[in-house]
Amino acid sequence: TTVLGIETSCDETGVAVYDSQRGLLSEALFSQIALHAEHGGVVPELASRDHVRRLAGLVDEALASAGVEQTDCIAYTAGPGLIGALMVGASFATGLATAWGRPVIPIHHMEGHLLAPLMTGEAPDFPFVALLVSGGHTLLVQVEGIGRYRLLGQTRDDAVGEAFDKTAKLLQLDYPGGPAVARLAEQGDPARFRLPRPMLDKPGLDFSFSGLKTAVYLLAQDHPESPADIARAFEEAVVETLATKCQRALAQAGCADLLIAGGVAANTRLRQALAALPGVRLHTPPLALCTDNGAMIAHAGALRLADAIEQPTRMLARPRWPLDTLEPPGQFAWT
Ligand code: ATP
Ligand code: MG
Ligand code: FE
Repeated sequence: TTVLGIETSCDETGVAVYDSQRGLLSEALFSQIALHAEHGGVVPELASRDHVRRLAGLVDEALASAGVEQTDCIAYTAGPGLIGALMVGASFATGLATAWGRPVIPIHHMEGHLLAPLMTGEAPDFPFVALLVSGGHTLLVQVEGIGRYRLLGQTRDDAVGEAFDKTAKLLQLDYPGGPAVARLAEQGDPARFRLPRPMLDKPGLDFSFSGLKTAVYLLAQDHPESPADIARAFEEAVVETLATKCQRALAQAGCADLLIAGGVAANTRLRQALAALPGVRLHTPPLALCTDNGAMIAHAGALRLADAIEQPTRMLARPRWPLDTLEPPGQFAWT
């Protein structure tokens, strides 16, 4: 079965063709980073408009390089994300599916991230613990199977990726901030400053990163001459906080397998720290599958063929959509 995947939840237009037997056949991606860079963050209306501009061309490109004219079904990101951006992908997918006489499969963006490592055969068997760290989410999830997600912890305020992006802004680095902060931190002295490790002294598996942002702000005011040392202190604080909570989550779940996904999973220091946790087997997606892409949506679609909607009568877009409300394939009812 071939699946066309369409991702437009934020600032990447991603399209891919995935075959349930042969794997990923093709991929096309356009990142709007340059478009939003001058604004220092994603401007929702600009994002929607650019998805409109790019989507048809990317679909043509992905189909052509897969060597197919149609696919058996179309999976699209139905949420969570920016409402206007989601609606572009949802309406395009629904229209194309109707023209082709094929079904659609609405996909949860974070499930796309979470299942992406399964594409490469590097992933563990169920159950495992997943750390989802991206621009909008910080989630610790006990994964019993596809669509069987128990939320162990989440952020109470900023997401980790958001904290990286805001720290980059404070240090006058480029958007998106994650890679920029990580690069600068390489030159920083880890012993120079120590920032707080938020909520490590409390039990439970929730996170909070907004206080860290304030601490970075104050430090940058006092030491405008040392952005690299500050970037390093920030990264150390984030990584130690995430690693400690992951270790607690694995202990609580009685599990040795930890999977990371989402944009921040591209961070080298985070990968090293998690791989070094005693008794932990770490599973990581390839770098290109960490940030948003169409392949993860096509792949999730291939795992959710049982959710195919044969004759879609409306497009589905949910800006807010908690991951733990999902059901296993074939059991999810759109209401
Ligand atoms: P969500 O998936 O929650 O809807 P999103 O789709 O915008 O949010 P992703 O595309 O998954 O997020 O990831 C982008 C985030 O990852 C940005 O915040 C970016 O700064 C961060 N990021 C990317 N690379 C790195 C890195 N090497 N180190 C730290 N953070 C990174
Ligand atoms: Mg993005
Ligand atoms: Fe994402």
